[in-house]
Amino acid sequence: MAVETRVTIIGAGIIGAAIARVLSRFENLQVYVLEENYDVGGGASRANSSVIHPGHEEDPDNQPLRARLCVEGNALWRKWCWELDIPVKWAGELMLFERNEDEKEAEKYLEWARRNNVPGVRIVRGEELFEIDSSISRNIKGGLHAPTAGLISPFEAVVALVENAVENGVRLLTETRVKRIVTRNNNVVGVETSRGLIEADIVINAAGLKADELSHSAGVEPWFRIKPRKGEYIIFDKDAEPKPTLILHTMPTPLTKGVYALTTIHGNLMIGPTAEDLPYESKGDTSTSLKGLDQLVKEASRMLHRTPPRSKIIKFFAGLRPEPPDGKWLIKAYSKPHGFVNVAGIRSPGLTAAPAIANHVSSLLREVYGLKLVEKKSWKPFRRRITTVNEMDYNTLDKHILENPDYGEIICFCNNVSKAEVLEAIGRMLAIGVKTITFDGVKLRTTAGFGKCQASRCRIRIALLISEATGTPLHSIIVKKASIGVGGVKTLWAESKEDVEND
Ligand SMILES: Cc1cc2nc3c(=O)[nH]c(=O)nc-3n(C[C@H](O)[C@H](O)[C@H](O)COP(=O)(O)OP(=O)(O)OC[C@H]3O[C@@H](n4cnc5c(N)ncnc54)[C@H](O)[C@@H]3O)c2cc1C
Repeated sequence: MAVETRVTIIGAGIIGAAIARVLSRFENLQVYVLEENYDVGGGASRANSSVIHPGHEEDPDNQPLRARLCVEGNALWRKWCWELDIPVKWAGELMLFERNEDEKEAEKYLEWARRNNVPGVRIVRGEELFEIDSSISRNIKGGLHAPTAGLISPFEAVVALVENAVENGVRLLTETRVKRIVTRNNNVVGVETSRGLIEADIVINAAGLKADELSHSAGVEPWFRIKPRKGEYIIFDKDAEPKPTLILHTMPTPLTKGVYALTTIHGNLMIGPTAEDLPYESKGDTSTSLKGLDQLVKEASRMLHRTPPRSKIIKFFAGLRPEPPDGKWLIKAYSKPHGFVNVAGIRSPGLTAAPAIANHVSSLLREVYGLKLVEKKSWKPFRRRITTVNEMDYNTLDKHILENPDYGEIICFCNNVSKAEVLEAIGRMLAIGVKTITFDGVKLRTTAGFGKCQASRCRIRIALLISEATGTPLHSIIVKKASIGVGGVKTLWAESKEDVEND
């Protein structure tokens, strides 16, 4: 048996999760993932445009690493989605321009496509535009078509990676906040956490927005600061039209790749993001604004031949991009302190590049620390997603109900999610090591509560199932971060119960 190297990954976003999966292949590594939240995937990896970018929007001169890992990541996701049963749609994308002058700018991206080896990119004009996607506005003059763009459910991707990594021996510790990196004589010896010291030989910092603070605690890159850049989105009800077949977006700006109009993997029209730089200290500000809403509706009307009424909006949310100085990802394994690895400031296209970033990090461990990584013979590449009633025909559903009547009991009527799916989601959360089962965790794994009524009806039913499955009192069930799940009434109920008990 080879000597084990203890590796601790900070952060269970898409980057930490992808690294965990890649490192789970090696029998001489003992890998821990530490996450401060109740669940995995709660940072930028949950609230983004969900696009697997082709790579033609990455500047090969100024951002060569981003360009290379984006293109590699796009190719790797095809294999990873198949192995891990992650829903994905290879829709292709169109960067739209309204004025003939913009075609010059589009030609720049065409050239970048050539230099970055992105296949099939070309300019489309006139009637052909409307033939490939009839939802496009007639004011659009042309577009840059990139056929290799894809759409994924980013949260489901994190969950799939973590489930697979845990099945292959990685340990996840949620509700574990890393306070600082602990070093001795210029060597990493572990991390100080909210649960005490966790010893490690190698610490990989994939803490998203807060990766700069942890890097400073290790004594490296004091100049490196991550700025939160907010992006707001609106999602329309499933019956709202139009539903673009391609991933449409406006021309990129210095702050963002443009505003997207796309049909999500779950079939809703989504518009966004905006781009607004926030002060450094606003790393928790995911508020939404009327200004943002107005901008998104305006951008949608530039791209689409018609925009659904605002009354069809069912969700308005924001994500925070971890924006590094000059947009440059900081991926580096240090010799001082030996064993500290930064995978920091991973702004867009971080979701796309995640598998390639993970392979790159594993190569750094070999090259910089001389690790001889030994492949596990028993490594399991496959994982299946939750069986859903929505994807069954009547005969299959009938068979499932005969075996397990919970498939016949619908919990979320908007999205047709059964009790069996909710219970499976709870079981899977417990299996990866989630200690506090949140309503949000179930919602994001099953889509229950994501429909028109936004969980008005199913929240209490899901909270009851969590309560029964885990023995947690109903009034203590957490929605996302706090126990306000069943509204003020729940708190009142808990308080009045206390009053009665105290009488
Ligand atoms: C608006 C927006 C749109 C985007 N669109 C796209 C897109 O379409 N395509 C694309 O490829 N990319 C896109 N991106 C970029 C992509 O989302 C990010 O690059 C990626 O999610 C970064 O992942 P991460 O794991 O580094 O960070 P995160 O997902 O933020 O994960 C970091 C994790 O670390 C945890 N953590 C932080 N501090 C600590 C601590 N001290 N102790 C323990 N845990 C800690 C956090 O809780 C979090 O779970 C977009 C980003 C945004 C915000």
